[in-house]
Amino acid sequence: VFLFNMKNIALLGATGSIGMNTVAVVTAYPELFQIESLTFHSNSEKGADLIKMLKPKYVGVGTEQMKKEFTTRFPEIEFGVGEEGLIKAATLESVDVVLTAVTGSVGLNPTLAAIKAKKDIALANKETLVMAGQWVMEEARKNEVRILPVDSEHSAIFQCLYGQKSDNLKELVITASGGSFRDLTREELKTVTLEEALNHPNWSMGRKITVDSSTMMNKGLEVIEAHWLFGTDYDKIKVVLHKESIVHSMIVLKDGAYLAQLGPSDMREPIQYALTYPNRLPIQDEKAFDLTEISQLNFKPMDFERFPMLELAYIVGEKGGAFPTVYNAANEIAANAFIDGKISYLQIEEFVQKAIWNYTETKEVTLEEVIAIDKQTRTIVERWIKEEGLL
Ligand code: NAD
Ligand code: MG
Repeated sequence: VFLFNMKNIALLGATGSIGMNTVAVVTAYPELFQIESLTFHSNSEKGADLIKMLKPKYVGVGTEQMKKEFTTRFPEIEFGVGEEGLIKAATLESVDVVLTAVTGSVGLNPTLAAIKAKKDIALANKETLVMAGQWVMEEARKNEVRILPVDSEHSAIFQCLYGQKSDNLKELVITASGGSFRDLTREELKTVTLEEALNHPNWSMGRKITVDSSTMMNKGLEVIEAHWLFGTDYDKIKVVLHKESIVHSMIVLKDGAYLAQLGPSDMREPIQYALTYPNRLPIQDEKAFDLTEISQLNFKPMDFERFPMLELAYIVGEKGGAFPTVYNAANEIAANAFIDGKISYLQIEEFVQKAIWNYTETKEVTLEEVIAIDKQTRTIVERWIKEEGLL
């Protein structure tokens, strides 16, 4: 007897780090999960392997050329390109839940389309909520679909909140590993390299999020993500440095009780929970986890001077409107420019700060305006990078 009916999944960003962890979860329970559609952007080799293994009905790829080649190789499957492909994959009639594992704000329109098509969302793509949280959550409420967190911190909070009355909640405590450079001073950050930034102590993830973890941008995005997911005011969202990444996050209740969720650093856990909620299933070849061996858990306050991107998240979050959009868009361009060797490490922060100072509008904005501001910010930051990169 199964816990629930077969779930048909659309997997956006199948070839990435979250995508491949999702494939591991899904293939462990073929009687419970089926990948109906998937997308990938450029890794054709990995994409072809996934198509052979998962036999999806529909596949979204990055270019027309890829579509041509794949249609010849797999004539029984329908292919689409770019955003159109992402949207089609996310809205197929037979899909129940869309796992958004693309990186960056390309996830926004497919996520909105999926919500309008009444698909539940298992959300890894945090940039979407930071860019346009108000509209995504509004659309989800209107269409009565669930937004289930995949991000480990938000999954932890979601698990702790299970069964709690919302007025029992005092605050959320998000843990931060500190990323690759947690023990370096700001002076020492001046000369760090991409290779060093990509060497995360606890998690193996895609490049952009690994760089974001080191600048604490990732934690900033997660604060804003938590605000939208759980409807929590910013002054009730705390961040603590916890270098072991064992406590994935906590909630504090009115009476002072702390509830925490602990476990190994294994993304299959939050991914699977998003797909089985509120049920649970064993995980194959679970990572070893022995608290007596770990023996110590450390917690420290976050230093806003050391990590200005985290402080900035609270500032843009409180200002609201399109400020978080600008924060995210500038970072997407700057973090990727650092990855491409076009700017130095500390220039990521510089360009994000500059983009926010440069943006002054505070009036209510519409979704269309937010999308335009996102584009505008990208263009401006790209120009700055051309003019000032590596100077
Ligand atoms: P990744 O770089 O490993 O994979 C990204 C995926 O998106 C790939 O499949 C790629 O083909 C696709 N993609 C990239 N650019 C695209 C574009 N322009 N159009 C369409 N598809 C595109 O990234 P990741 O680490 O798996 O992260 C994915 C998302 O999940 C991010 O939003 C990240 O913040 C979030 N997340 C990741 C982790 C993790 O452990 N990796 C944890 C929490 C949250
Ligand atoms: Mg996280």
